[in-house]
Amino acid sequence: MAQDPAGERAAERQTMLEWHLRARGIRDPRVLDAMGRVPRELFVPAAVLADAYADSPLPLGHGQTISQPYIVALTAEAALLRPGDRVLDVGTGSGYAAAVYAAAGARVWSIEYIPALAEQARRALDAAGCGEVEVTTGDGTLGLPELAPFDAILAAAAGSEIPRPWVDQLAEGGRIVMPLERGWGWQQLIRATRTGDELAIDDLGGVRFVPLRGAHGLR
Ligand code: SAH
Repeated sequence: MAQDPAGERAAERQTMLEWHLRARGIRDPRVLDAMGRVPRELFVPAAVLADAYADSPLPLGHGQTISQPYIVALTAEAALLRPGDRVLDVGTGSGYAAAVYAAAGARVWSIEYIPALAEQARRALDAAGCGEVEVTTGDGTLGLPELAPFDAILAAAAGSEIPRPWVDQLAEGGRIVMPLERGWGWQQLIRATRTGDELAIDDLGGVRFVPLRGAHGLR
């Protein structure tokens, strides 16, 4: 993991940890530690560099956005990541969330629909010292069957329902965290935990994400 040797943005990262994450109830020490170390400024476009630690999503180009830091933390915490967990990250975007999951100790495979974004994310992940995150281009709603099972499948784009391939590729006890479109312009972040053939669903609250495309995406 690349550090921020001059410590130039360390103070902003601390403010993010205290006020955007801890104050809102993020408690998982691994998630807080990861978010305190990943240099978010390496993942944001030059035009919004000054806002890298703002409490908001940021434009990424191609009509996509980098999730708000709190949403990345909420997703990572809900995923109950443990060191060595196999994680499928759907919607690489900037690569920032993938870097956070990796810094929290997971082995991360990330899949992005838009080839230019995947390429950009690969470069940012390398620059951040997260070269072990594998980025693929393709339809993430199909999962990556050859690499299954996954302990967690985490999505940063909203679908109509949980893609069936994700359920099939989820390990026993595995977690899916994703936003579901609920109509009237609102989305609900959910966690689905697999026990045998059963999925237990937890409601993590209202959110706003870009649409999940692909074969099992938003209808
Ligand atoms: N986690 C990202 C957020 C990116 S926004 C970050 O930290 O920056 C969501 C991303 O999902 C977009 O880049 C979009 O292109 C991608 N996406 C949408 N549908 C997809 C699909 N079916 N497969 C893979 N990526 C998809």
